[in-house]
Amino acid sequence: MTSMQVAAALLWLAASLATSFAAAVPSPEAYFGHKMGADGSVLDWNRVVSYFRALEAASDQIRIEQLGKSTEGRPFIAATIATPDTLRNLDRYREIQRRLADPRLTPEAEAEPLIAQGKTVVLVTCSIHSTELASTQTAVEFAWRLLTEDRPRFRAILQNTIFLLVPSLNPDGVDLVTRWYRRTQGTPYEGTGPPELFQKYTGHDNNRDWYMFTQQETQLTVAKLHNVWHPQIVYDVHQQGPYSARLFVPPWLDPSEPNIDAIVMQETNMIGTAMAAELTASGQKGVAIHSTYDFWSPSRAYQAFHGGLRILTESASAKLASPVTVNADQLERNALGYNAQERSWNFLEPWPGGTWRLRDIVDDQLIAMESCLYEAAIHREELLRNFYRIGQRQAARKSPWAFVIPAEQRDPAATRKLLETLAFAQVEIAHTAAGAHVVRMAQPYSGWAKALLERQHYPDMRLFPGGPPERPYDATAHTLPLLMGVRVETAESPLEGLEPGILPEKAPAGLAASDTASWLAVNRIWASGGMVWRNPTTGDFAATSQGAPWKQLQRPRIGLYRGWIPNSDEGWTRWVLEQFGFAYRSLLNKDIQGAQGGELRKRFDVIVFPDAAAESMEHGFAAGSMPPEFSGGLESAGADALRQFASAGGTLIFLNRAAEYAIQHLGVAARNIVGGVSESEFYSPGSLLAGRLDRRHSLGQGLPAEIAIWSEHSPAWETAESAPVRYPDTHLLESGWLLGEKYLAGKAALVDARVGAGHVILFGMRPQYRAQSYQTLKLFFNALLYF
Ligand SMILES: [Zn+2]
Repeated sequence: MTSMQVAAALLWLAASLATSFAAAVPSPEAYFGHKMGADGSVLDWNRVVSYFRALEAASDQIRIEQLGKSTEGRPFIAATIATPDTLRNLDRYREIQRRLADPRLTPEAEAEPLIAQGKTVVLVTCSIHSTELASTQTAVEFAWRLLTEDRPRFRAILQNTIFLLVPSLNPDGVDLVTRWYRRTQGTPYEGTGPPELFQKYTGHDNNRDWYMFTQQETQLTVAKLHNVWHPQIVYDVHQQGPYSARLFVPPWLDPSEPNIDAIVMQETNMIGTAMAAELTASGQKGVAIHSTYDFWSPSRAYQAFHGGLRILTESASAKLASPVTVNADQLERNALGYNAQERSWNFLEPWPGGTWRLRDIVDDQLIAMESCLYEAAIHREELLRNFYRIGQRQAARKSPWAFVIPAEQRDPAATRKLLETLAFAQVEIAHTAAGAHVVRMAQPYSGWAKALLERQHYPDMRLFPGGPPERPYDATAHTLPLLMGVRVETAESPLEGLEPGILPEKAPAGLAASDTASWLAVNRIWASGGMVWRNPTTGDFAATSQGAPWKQLQRPRIGLYRGWIPNSDEGWTRWVLEQFGFAYRSLLNKDIQGAQGGELRKRFDVIVFPDAAAESMEHGFAAGSMPPEFSGGLESAGADALRQFASAGGTLIFLNRAAEYAIQHLGVAARNIVGGVSESEFYSPGSLLAGRLDRRHSLGQGLPAEIAIWSEHSPAWETAESAPVRYPDTHLLESGWLLGEKYLAGKAALVDARVGAGHVILFGMRPQYRAQSYQTLKLFFNALLYF
């Protein structure tokens, strides 16, 4: 044989070896006993993990890593898929990514060879929202196809990319939804959502956690994938309601967060539009681009501020794994940016209506996933070069020169939390000799730091000129210094004598030396003019102010209301209570209804009602929509028990919309003045507003006179009851978007009403908003501790 013939024979041998690998890999259908996306098919997480392990055992083109454990202890895994040669040299490719991500490490002359050698890193994340269950099945089938089908496009993907696949960002929810689906299968309730949060603390808010990083799944993904790999593309696979487009792909709607680099936006438009073209060419109908989803909140877009593209697809849902029939005239006519019944430039082939199944979603997602990866493969060189340029452009930011966090702060613990949160996202922090912390803009992730440290000016967007506001997809404000009560300034000219890193934390004066270690180890609350401290050994709270001796506070016995309708705010409240060491018991409807005649008061000092509509608290799910054991609300027996509780000296705390329940059912004399006002007149879609606090009131201890209030169309009251927080008369908007400030002027945002011997406290805000609002957390904690 000539050497050419030898090479050909070796290639043939390699190909047949690959085929025998393929033969050893069970197909998803053989392994799971059904085709992916078959009607009625749901997956168990341990089977998904073992299937990926089986792929790893049979193929040298995939590696599985367990990144850690989920919140409830399930394995949290990621697959790395590439050619065997790439997989043998992952350290080398990680180093290339690190060097390209930071232009300060890499002069242009050194960047070009790295670009020539590198691979496009693509992270695909599935089913963060567990009722959007198709994508885990798509991940299983796509991985199997990619490893077993020898096609030119797949070869290009394997050769030119490093494909990181997270089959679920929320493994706990996969099992929770599967359990619920099986339980209700064949009943009138088949295909309904489960009556509990699909992530233990955050539920559907688990994709709103990506700048505070509170949850285990968020931390693992950011620390072990994003920050290690710096992916050029992150594709997050979601589903939307059944009546809109079959599939959304970027371009995004306006507005986009102004600190996101324009190259990121342009390339997102390019890849998204290519995916839409591919879907259409494959015969898929109902593909929408440039609609519904804006690009404003960083809580869903970590990578867009870290040099990478965020690709989102949102497929129309079936009823979990059961088909749904949608008539053409049921399709949404007034979707943001298009009419789902009519052709338009960004919605070229409407879906005609009919039966829509889980497999239809899987089919669309398979095409979208392949297309995204293929674009990443064929545009490898430009994507890597532009990735380097994005870092250059970000590090060239000149104004401000830096954000400065002064040493003197009212709340050192919240200040430290802010610094740690920025550092977790790879923001570099330095300090001065005097103890101020400095975030320079001359660094690759300056846009991230700036977005979180500055005030947001959300554009005044209307559905038509002079018309009602165009709804933002999520909140409009994310200014951490306002949320956390941390003083932050800007410096326009260079500061001298900076040392890298965050200064070590010191225990506060007045605390015994023996307590210092535990002080550093535990969560702590600073409030009360001085501070409140929780002793981690005894669980007791102690307070001091102005250097006075520590005084022990009574440990409150806390009940937390939980209705049947899954409520993220309830989950966040549990999370916050646990993080700060407050013991609590969850109270269901029957626990409250069954505690008549003062029973509730014997067991609890304070009961908290998270943000929820009063009607849903009273009656729960709509009649007939859920199995009888999950129906009903507090009803009149619950209201009776709560009145008795307050009369006997208990404290009832109602957060945000829940306050209306106290007005309607507990006789609190307050009127929500924005209750009946139209959105055109009054609109505060997740904004930070100015509040004036009466510091003599016991709820106001430890806080400044001027605070920032988290408002999401939140109530504001006219009342003769005590109102320790009120809105000022003018200049209400601190960050975000607000229409109709005149309605709020001078009105109460916090009410302390007396009912019998007890207190009913109405919060016209979410004081524990997504575990971010450290400043108003103290108002909430004061309400728990001081009555
Ligand atoms: Zn979703």
